[in-house]
Amino acid sequence: MARIICFFINKANDQIIAMNSPPNPTEVAMKNVIRISRGEPGHWVGDGFPVRTVMSYHEDPAAISPFLLLDHAGPRDFPAGAVGRGVDWHPHRGFETVTIVYAGAVDHADSAGNAGTIGPGEVQWMTAGRGVLHRELHGDAWARAGGRFEVLQLWVNLPARHKLAPPRYQTITNADIPEAVLPDGAGRARVIAGTFVGVTGPAQTFTPVDLLDVRLVAGAALTLPLRSGWTAAVQVVHGEVTVGARTARAGDLVLLDREGEGAAVSAATDATLFVMHGEPIDEPVVGYGPFVMNTVAEIRAAVEDYRTGRLAAIPDTTD
Ligand code: MN
Repeated sequence: MARIICFFINKANDQIIAMNSPPNPTEVAMKNVIRISRGEPGHWVGDGFPVRTVMSYHEDPAAISPFLLLDHAGPRDFPAGAVGRGVDWHPHRGFETVTIVYAGAVDHADSAGNAGTIGPGEVQWMTAGRGVLHRELHGDAWARAGGRFEVLQLWVNLPARHKLAPPRYQTITNADIPEAVLPDGAGRARVIAGTFVGVTGPAQTFTPVDLLDVRLVAGAALTLPLRSGWTAAVQVVHGEVTVGARTARAGDLVLLDREGEGAAVSAATDATLFVMHGEPIDEPVVGYGPFVMNTVAEIRAAVEDYRTGRLAAIPDTTD
């Protein structure tokens, strides 16, 4: 069967991109679904984030590498005036936290002096590296009005050679995120990191990672182009989809096999998907709470550095 040429429009510059159609299922193997998980029961992180941990390196570090953890917070309705909720100052070392807001607002401040507030569609990419203290709170203005809150937080591992990199912080606003139009009116994909169908996202990463905010319309069917040898996972934020032959609903995490070049996705309803796709970091993973390193000795050092104030200090300029 001949390959069809698909056209995608890069809305950032109206450039039309031609590419070979995603591999036909009869030509190459699709990635198999390893599992679908919901991370129930949930738990609270601080008093602001009612989360379900849908994937974690505590269970299968190799299968999800370079990712370490995904928390799906909400959806939950908060009353007006519930200000100041969230997680107060706490440390991290050895990886990056990526926070994506779907509803509500998140306010971040860290010991490197970085701060920012993001709303729906926006992203905070915090590189802990050798160490930060930070706090993550509901955005104040949003909390005064109250309403729906829904956020994902992804932990992205750092390779051993960058685990002690200087801390870094990227606020990625809606205007920063380019959008690819999917063929056949299937919807659109906002590219947060990496490259998808020729559209490159703004996030700086240490290893190859693609993160996509995909919005499908009901009835859409497409093959997500994915690399063989790379980890791929899809979090269903809203709606119901079929991946391969498996049905996944809002709140489900679909973990795919490293092998295979793509995933057949169809949408039973309008759907919002968060697609994580990255080159595995095949190194030992040893974690303890907010620290993720390669060895037990490095974890002991992190705990000791935190205990003695060498990891980082809360800035004087914030209360
Ligand atoms: Mn944190």
